[in-house]
Amino acid sequence: MECGRESLERLAAHLEAVYGLNEASRRRGPVAEPLDVLIETVLSQATSDVNSRRAYAALRRRFATWDDVACAPVAEVAGAIAGGGLGPTKAARIKDIIARLRAERGRATLAFLHRMSTEDALRYLKGLSGVGPKTAACVALFALGRPAFPVDTHVRRVCSRLGLVPAEAGAARAQELLGLEVPPERALGLHLLLIEHGRRTCHPRRPACSDCRLAEDCRYARARADAGQHETGAGAGADAAHRRPRTRGRGTAIGSPILGRRLGHVRRKR
Ligand code: SF4
Repeated sequence: MECGRESLERLAAHLEAVYGLNEASRRRGPVAEPLDVLIETVLSQATSDVNSRRAYAALRRRFATWDDVACAPVAEVAGAIAGGGLGPTKAARIKDIIARLRAERGRATLAFLHRMSTEDALRYLKGLSGVGPKTAACVALFALGRPAFPVDTHVRRVCSRLGLVPAEAGAARAQELLGLEVPPERALGLHLLLIEHGRRTCHPRRPACSDCRLAEDCRYARARADAGQHETGAGAGADAAHRRPRTRGRGTAIGSPILGRRLGHVRRKR
Protein backbone atom coordinates (compact mmCIF):
# COMPACT_ATOMS: atom_id res chain seq x y z
CA MET A 1 0.00 0.00 0.00
CA GLU A 2 2.85 2.34 -0.76
CA CYS A 3 1.79 5.97 -0.93
CA GLY A 4 -1.89 4.96 -0.87
CA ARG A 5 -3.35 8.28 0.16
CA GLU A 6 -1.07 10.22 -2.13
CA SER A 7 -1.78 8.07 -5.17
CA LEU A 8 -5.53 8.12 -4.55
CA GLU A 9 -5.34 11.91 -4.29
CA ARG A 10 -3.67 11.95 -7.70
CA LEU A 11 -6.18 9.50 -9.13
CA ALA A 12 -9.05 11.73 -7.93
CA ALA A 13 -7.36 14.77 -9.44
CA HIS A 14 -6.91 12.99 -12.80
CA LEU A 15 -10.49 11.78 -12.91
CA GLU A 16 -11.69 15.23 -11.92
CA ALA A 17 -9.68 16.71 -14.78
CA VAL A 18 -11.41 14.31 -17.19
CA TYR A 19 -14.97 14.35 -15.89
CA GLY A 20 -15.12 17.59 -13.91
CA LEU A 21 -16.02 18.02 -10.29
CA ASN A 22 -19.26 16.23 -9.73
CA GLU A 23 -21.95 18.68 -8.67
CA ALA A 24 -23.34 16.11 -6.28
CA SER A 25 -20.07 16.01 -4.37
CA ARG A 26 -20.26 19.78 -3.86
CA ARG A 27 -23.83 19.80 -2.64
CA ARG A 28 -24.02 16.67 -0.50
CA GLY A 29 -24.12 16.97 3.24
CA PRO A 30 -25.87 15.28 6.13
CA VAL A 31 -29.59 14.74 5.58
CA ALA A 32 -32.22 15.06 8.29
CA GLU A 33 -33.56 11.51 8.01
CA PRO A 34 -31.00 8.82 7.15
CA LEU A 35 -33.79 6.22 7.01
CA ASP A 36 -34.89 7.73 3.69
CA VAL A 37 -31.40 7.14 2.28
CA LEU A 38 -31.21 3.64 3.71
CA ILE A 39 -34.49 2.61 2.09
CA GLU A 40 -33.43 4.25 -1.17
CA THR A 41 -30.20 2.24 -1.01
CA VAL A 42 -31.96 -1.04 -0.23
CA LEU A 43 -34.10 -0.43 -3.30
CA SER A 44 -30.96 0.17 -5.39
CA GLN A 45 -29.57 -3.28 -4.65
CA ALA A 46 -29.19 -5.47 -7.76
CA THR A 47 -30.93 -3.09 -10.13
CA SER A 48 -30.26 -0.02 -12.26
CA ASP A 49 -30.34 3.57 -10.99
CA VAL A 50 -33.37 4.30 -13.14
CA ASN A 51 -35.35 1.36 -11.78
CA SER A 52 -34.42 2.00 -8.17
CA ARG A 53 -35.37 5.68 -8.43
CA ARG A 54 -38.72 4.69 -9.91
CA ALA A 55 -39.29 2.13 -7.15
CA TYR A 56 -38.47 4.68 -4.42
CA ALA A 57 -40.74 7.30 -5.96
CA ALA A 58 -43.56 4.75 -6.25
CA LEU A 59 -43.10 3.73 -2.62
CA ARG A 60 -43.27 7.36 -1.43
CA ARG A 61 -46.36 7.95 -3.56
CA ARG A 62 -48.14 4.88 -2.26
CA PHE A 63 -47.37 5.36 1.46
CA ALA A 64 -47.44 8.71 3.25
CA THR A 65 -45.14 7.64 6.09
CA TRP A 66 -42.71 4.84 6.96
CA ASP A 67 -45.17 3.82 9.68
CA ASP A 68 -47.72 3.19 6.94
CA VAL A 69 -45.21 0.88 5.25
CA ALA A 70 -44.71 -0.98 8.52
CA CYS A 71 -48.46 -1.57 8.87
CA ALA A 72 -49.04 -2.65 5.26
CA PRO A 73 -48.90 -6.29 4.11
CA VAL A 74 -45.61 -7.34 2.49
CA ALA A 75 -47.42 -8.03 -0.77
CA GLU A 76 -48.72 -4.46 -0.93
CA VAL A 77 -45.26 -2.98 -0.34
CA ALA A 78 -43.78 -5.45 -2.84
CA GLY A 79 -46.35 -4.38 -5.41
CA ALA A 80 -45.42 -0.71 -4.97
CA ILE A 81 -41.72 -1.36 -5.55
CA ALA A 82 -42.08 -4.10 -8.17
CA GLY A 83 -40.47 -1.91 -10.85
CA GLY A 84 -37.15 -2.13 -9.01
CA GLY A 85 -36.97 -5.93 -9.04
CA LEU A 86 -36.82 -8.36 -6.11
CA GLY A 87 -39.98 -6.74 -4.77
CA PRO A 88 -40.93 -9.35 -2.13
CA THR A 89 -37.36 -9.61 -0.79
CA LYS A 90 -36.82 -5.87 -0.58
CA ALA A 91 -40.30 -5.28 0.86
CA ALA A 92 -39.62 -7.79 3.65
CA ARG A 93 -36.25 -6.13 4.40
CA ILE A 94 -37.72 -2.64 4.50
CA LYS A 95 -40.55 -3.73 6.76
CA ASP A 96 -38.09 -5.54 9.07
CA ILE A 97 -35.93 -2.43 9.34
CA ILE A 98 -38.86 -0.16 10.14
CA ALA A 99 -40.33 -2.65 12.61
CA ARG A 100 -37.02 -2.89 14.45
CA LEU A 101 -36.67 0.87 14.70
CA ARG A 102 -40.22 1.25 15.99
CA ALA A 103 -39.62 -1.47 18.57
CA GLU A 104 -36.22 -0.12 19.67
CA ARG A 105 -36.68 3.63 19.31
CA GLY A 106 -40.43 4.10 19.44
CA ARG A 107 -40.58 5.47 15.90
CA ALA A 108 -39.29 4.93 12.39
CA THR A 109 -36.15 7.04 12.37
CA LEU A 110 -32.39 6.75 12.02
CA ALA A 111 -31.75 10.36 13.02
CA PHE A 112 -29.91 9.13 16.13
CA LEU A 113 -27.08 7.96 13.87
CA HIS A 114 -26.00 11.59 13.53
CA ARG A 115 -24.90 11.48 17.16
CA MET A 116 -22.90 8.25 16.78
CA SER A 117 -19.30 7.82 15.75
CA THR A 118 -18.87 6.60 12.18
CA GLU A 119 -17.75 3.17 13.39
CA ASP A 120 -20.74 2.78 15.71
CA ALA A 121 -23.13 3.99 13.01
CA LEU A 122 -21.72 1.49 10.49
CA ARG A 123 -21.94 -1.31 13.05
CA TYR A 124 -25.56 -0.48 13.84
CA LEU A 125 -26.51 -0.28 10.18
CA LYS A 126 -24.89 -3.62 9.36
CA GLY A 127 -27.04 -5.22 12.06
CA LEU A 128 -30.21 -4.31 10.14
CA SER A 129 -31.99 -6.67 7.79
CA GLY A 130 -30.39 -6.86 4.33
CA VAL A 131 -27.75 -4.23 5.10
CA GLY A 132 -24.20 -5.18 4.12
CA PRO A 133 -20.97 -3.17 4.11
CA LYS A 134 -21.76 -1.31 0.88
CA THR A 135 -25.27 -0.24 1.89
CA ALA A 136 -24.04 0.81 5.34
CA ALA A 137 -21.22 2.85 3.79
CA CYS A 138 -23.66 4.52 1.37
CA VAL A 139 -25.79 5.69 4.29
CA ALA A 140 -22.74 6.92 6.20
CA LEU A 141 -21.45 8.79 3.15
CA PHE A 142 -24.64 10.17 1.62
CA ALA A 143 -26.87 10.60 4.69
CA LEU A 144 -24.46 11.26 7.55
CA GLY A 145 -21.80 13.07 5.53
CA ARG A 146 -19.09 10.78 6.92
CA PRO A 147 -15.94 9.73 5.03
CA ALA A 148 -17.05 6.17 4.25
CA PHE A 149 -16.11 4.68 0.88
CA PRO A 150 -18.75 2.38 -0.63
CA VAL A 151 -17.44 -0.02 -3.26
CA ASP A 152 -20.04 -0.95 -5.84
CA THR A 153 -19.57 -2.95 -9.01
CA HIS A 154 -18.08 0.02 -10.96
CA VAL A 155 -15.70 1.07 -8.20
CA ARG A 156 -14.52 -2.50 -7.66
CA ARG A 157 -13.97 -3.15 -11.35
CA VAL A 158 -12.02 0.05 -11.98
CA CYS A 159 -9.89 -0.26 -8.83
CA SER A 160 -9.17 -3.91 -9.55
CA ARG A 161 -8.12 -3.19 -13.13
CA LEU A 162 -5.91 -0.32 -12.06
CA GLY A 163 -4.21 -2.56 -9.54
CA LEU A 164 -5.38 -0.62 -6.49
CA VAL A 165 -6.73 -3.80 -4.96
CA PRO A 166 -5.92 -7.43 -5.68
CA ALA A 167 -7.74 -8.70 -8.77
CA GLU A 168 -9.36 -11.50 -6.81
CA ALA A 169 -10.70 -9.21 -4.07
CA GLY A 170 -14.47 -9.02 -3.89
CA ALA A 171 -16.33 -5.77 -3.26
CA ALA A 172 -16.32 -6.16 0.52
CA ARG A 173 -12.56 -6.79 0.67
CA ALA A 174 -11.89 -3.96 -1.79
CA GLN A 175 -13.97 -1.65 0.40
CA GLU A 176 -11.90 -2.62 3.45
CA LEU A 177 -8.62 -1.97 1.65
CA LEU A 178 -9.62 1.28 -0.02
CA GLY A 179 -11.35 2.54 3.12
CA LEU A 180 -7.98 2.54 4.85
CA GLU A 181 -6.38 4.69 2.18
CA VAL A 182 -8.91 7.08 0.68
CA PRO A 183 -8.36 10.61 2.06
CA PRO A 184 -11.52 11.47 4.04
CA GLU A 185 -12.11 14.70 2.19
CA ARG A 186 -11.90 12.82 -1.13
CA ALA A 187 -14.27 9.95 -0.24
CA LEU A 188 -17.44 11.32 -1.81
CA GLY A 189 -15.80 12.85 -4.87
CA LEU A 190 -13.62 9.84 -5.63
CA HIS A 191 -16.51 7.42 -5.19
CA LEU A 192 -18.61 9.38 -7.68
CA LEU A 193 -15.72 9.87 -10.12
CA LEU A 194 -14.86 6.16 -10.17
CA ILE A 195 -18.49 5.34 -10.93
CA GLU A 196 -18.40 7.91 -13.73
CA HIS A 197 -15.19 6.37 -15.09
CA GLY A 198 -16.70 2.87 -14.88
CA ARG A 199 -19.78 3.96 -16.79
CA ARG A 200 -18.18 6.12 -19.44
CA THR A 201 -14.76 4.60 -20.09
CA CYS A 202 -13.85 1.50 -18.08
CA HIS A 203 -16.85 -0.50 -19.27
CA PRO A 204 -17.37 -4.02 -17.94
CA ARG A 205 -16.86 -5.80 -21.26
CA ARG A 206 -14.97 -3.44 -23.56
CA PRO A 207 -13.03 -0.85 -21.58
CA ALA A 208 -11.90 2.04 -23.78
CA CYS A 209 -8.25 1.77 -22.74
CA SER A 210 -6.96 3.62 -25.80
CA ASP A 211 -8.92 6.70 -24.66
CA CYS A 212 -8.06 6.38 -20.98
CA ARG A 213 -5.53 8.69 -19.38
CA LEU A 214 -4.79 6.07 -16.76
CA ALA A 215 -3.72 3.39 -19.25
CA GLU A 216 0.00 3.75 -18.72
CA ASP A 217 -0.30 2.78 -15.09
CA CYS A 218 -3.16 0.33 -15.36
CA ARG A 219 -2.55 -3.33 -14.60
CA TYR A 220 -5.36 -4.43 -16.90
CA ALA A 221 -4.18 -2.28 -19.82
CA ARG A 222 -0.67 -3.66 -19.48
CA ALA A 223 -1.98 -7.22 -19.42
CA ARG A 224 -4.10 -6.45 -22.44
CA ALA A 225 -1.11 -5.05 -24.30
CA ASP A 226 0.91 -8.12 -23.35
CA ALA A 227 -1.86 -10.32 -24.67
CA GLY A 228 -1.79 -8.39 -27.98
CA GLN A 229 -5.39 -7.31 -27.64
CA HIS A 230 -5.03 -3.55 -27.82
CA GLU A 231 -7.95 -2.84 -30.04
CA THR A 232 -9.75 -6.12 -30.32
CA GLY A 233 -11.99 -5.53 -27.34
CA ALA A 234 -11.45 -9.16 -26.40
CA GLY A 235 -11.53 -8.48 -22.71
CA ALA A 236 -11.63 -12.03 -21.45
CA GLY A 237 -7.98 -12.72 -22.20
CA ALA A 238 -6.89 -9.53 -20.52
CA ASP A 239 -9.17 -10.20 -17.58
CA ALA A 240 -7.51 -13.55 -17.09
CA ALA A 241 -4.06 -12.14 -17.67
CA HIS A 242 -4.43 -9.23 -15.26
CA ARG A 243 -5.35 -11.63 -12.50
CA ARG A 244 -2.00 -13.34 -12.90
CA PRO A 245 0.94 -11.71 -11.14
CA ARG A 246 2.93 -9.86 -13.79
CA THR A 247 6.65 -9.93 -13.40
CA ARG A 248 9.16 -7.25 -14.21
CA GLY A 249 12.24 -9.00 -15.57
CA ARG A 250 10.45 -12.14 -14.39
CA GLY A 251 11.03 -11.07 -10.85
CA THR A 252 8.81 -8.44 -9.29
CA ALA A 253 5.04 -8.46 -9.27
CA ILE A 254 3.62 -5.13 -10.43
CA GLY A 255 0.44 -3.61 -9.18
CA SER A 256 0.81 -3.04 -5.46
CA PRO A 257 -2.49 -3.38 -3.59
CA ILE A 258 -2.80 0.40 -3.70
CA LEU A 259 -1.46 2.07 -6.84
CA GLY A 260 1.89 3.67 -6.18
CA ARG A 261 3.31 7.02 -7.06
CA ARG A 262 3.40 6.18 -10.76
CA LEU A 263 -0.10 7.62 -11.01
CA GLY A 264 1.65 10.93 -10.83
CA HIS A 265 2.82 10.35 -14.36
CA VAL A 266 -0.34 9.11 -16.01
CA ARG A 267 -0.97 10.47 -19.45
CA ARG A 268 -2.82 9.66 -22.60
CA LYS A 269 -1.31 6.60 -24.14
CA ARG A 270 -1.44 7.72 -27.71
S1 SF4 B 1 -6.76 1.75 -18.94
FE1 SF4 B 1 -8.57 0.54 -19.49
S2 SF4 B 1 -8.86 -0.92 -17.83
FE2 SF4 B 1 -7.45 0.68 -17.09
S3 SF4 B 1 -8.74 2.15 -16.02
FE3 SF4 B 1 -8.53 2.86 -18.12
S4 SF4 B 1 -10.28 1.98 -19.25
FE4 SF4 B 1 -10.08 0.86 -17.29
